[in-house]
Amino acid sequence: MNLTGNLLIGASEVPASEGTMKALNPATNQLIEPDFAFGGVADVDKAAKLADEAFDHYSHTSLAERSAFLERIADNLDAVSQELAARATLETGLPEAQLQGEAAKAATQFRQFADVVRKGRFLQLAIDPAQPDRQPRPRMDHRLQKIAIGPVAVFGASNFPISYSVAGGDTASALASGATVIVKAHNAHPGASEIQARAIRQAVQDSGLPEGVFSMVRGGGNAIGEALVDHPLIKAVTFTGSEQGGMALYRRAQLRPDPIPVFTEMTSVNPTFILPQALAARGAQIGDGFVERMLVNVGQACLKPAILIAVDGAGFEALRAAMVKRVTDAPARPMLTPGIHGAYLSGLDRLQSTGANLVAVGSVAHADLDGRSALLEVDGQRFLAENALAHEVFGPAGLLVKVKDETEMFAVARSLRGQLSATLHLEEADLDLARRLLPVLERRTGRIVVNAFAHPQEVSFATIHGGPFPASSDSRFTSVGMTSIERFLRPVTYQGFPDALLPEALRELNPLGLPRSVEGQ
Ligand code: NAP
Repeated sequence: MNLTGNLLIGASEVPASEGTMKALNPATNQLIEPDFAFGGVADVDKAAKLADEAFDHYSHTSLAERSAFLERIADNLDAVSQELAARATLETGLPEAQLQGEAAKAATQFRQFADVVRKGRFLQLAIDPAQPDRQPRPRMDHRLQKIAIGPVAVFGASNFPISYSVAGGDTASALASGATVIVKAHNAHPGASEIQARAIRQAVQDSGLPEGVFSMVRGGGNAIGEALVDHPLIKAVTFTGSEQGGMALYRRAQLRPDPIPVFTEMTSVNPTFILPQALAARGAQIGDGFVERMLVNVGQACLKPAILIAVDGAGFEALRAAMVKRVTDAPARPMLTPGIHGAYLSGLDRLQSTGANLVAVGSVAHADLDGRSALLEVDGQRFLAENALAHEVFGPAGLLVKVKDETEMFAVARSLRGQLSATLHLEEADLDLARRLLPVLERRTGRIVVNAFAHPQEVSFATIHGGPFPASSDSRFTSVGMTSIERFLRPVTYQGFPDALLPEALRELNPLGLPRSVEGQ
């Protein structure tokens, strides 16, 4: 595919209005062709107006038509998957085989959402029929369905350049809900973003849908993102990235004359607790597995296990030695951007200046943006005294927290902020302790894993990728999995409607054959 670097606003190719950028190959620290356009507030306005104009038509497409559209996007992604993975590799330094897997996952997500749409359960249809003879007051007919919230702005993530980016789960779930979408592409992978955007746009055209169903904008600095969040025609925002960026956009949206929901997925250290019998039985194995997962994606993963908590006792030294070995043997690998690399180095400094000891480092960095793996250690008392130790360092580093007893382990668990996931390693004899720890963890996390690690994640009906703040800004929702569609839906009641005026899904004879609750049954 010939990359033009243009913004793709509806069917238009829009050249730069606010300068250009080139992609950076983080493995070589060299810029890659071509130039990519930066747009401005006027481009956001054009995309938002098109998204608004397209909304009434698109949100009323039949379930069959919408699922066919989502499947067409999946087919288009499959058709460009080799090229997409190759370009994403150049722009991120991540292994090509991994990115081929991501491209396949992105296409699969669209197919999964096509199935969700076809089955119609997400509409949550409910009917409370009229009761004209009810005493003391008759009841009118009430029927409920969920509809799409309106045009959605999606901020693509930097670290998974396909499956959480332009054609990622946020775009797939928003389009599945019937919302129109404007993606703010992440500047860490502009070429991969364009390939994905063209695959989606081609599906819009081939499906005969209005051009405003999908647009992609890009900008330098905060102005373009702020314009998206401020635009009166945008009705919801999704964001994956830093706590600072996510909260800036969240607060901004609450200051609008008409505040809108902003679903941010921000930061998590995914604490891992090794219970005493598991530590004694398999300390070395767990330590090795922890570091292996910690290093996936050069530690630039939302589910990276970053903090491991274990009681000093049988198995602790074996655990520690296995972690030290894995970290020491790990080669340095390129990190995604100069900004992320710089933040990693400052994060390591922060951990050490607040009391953690560096106990192992990986092999020397060769390229400018290589991230060298690191293991730090701290005792429970120090961890509890210093909040900064519990904050994420995005990159290939982990912190081993040595607690002196069970009471201190509970205190550490209670001190943690909201998390995407927490993990327990346990044996049969640890079950009583695990039962007592569970309520503490449930309050603080969206997912609890036993005897494994949370990464990689399933995209399924039971998947939750979210959690209490600061893991996300709204712990009631997930950003991954089939129920992520719920972020973009709102309920509408149709009261006293003649059958012919009702949405098809709510008509008396149930012409679409969809699951519906009647009188709550
Ligand atoms: P980021 O700096 O928060 O940026 C994410 C996106 O939001 C970018 O497109 C950025 O635009 C935009 N943005 C950020 N702040 C903004 C603001 N105030 N106004 C308008 N737009 C704004 O995230 P990142 O580049 O991915 O940086 C990596 C950090 O994100 C890591 O340190 C990590 O903590 C976090 N992260 C977390 C997860 C997770 O799943 N929890 C995943 C990835 C990253 P520009 O690039 O143009 O500034």
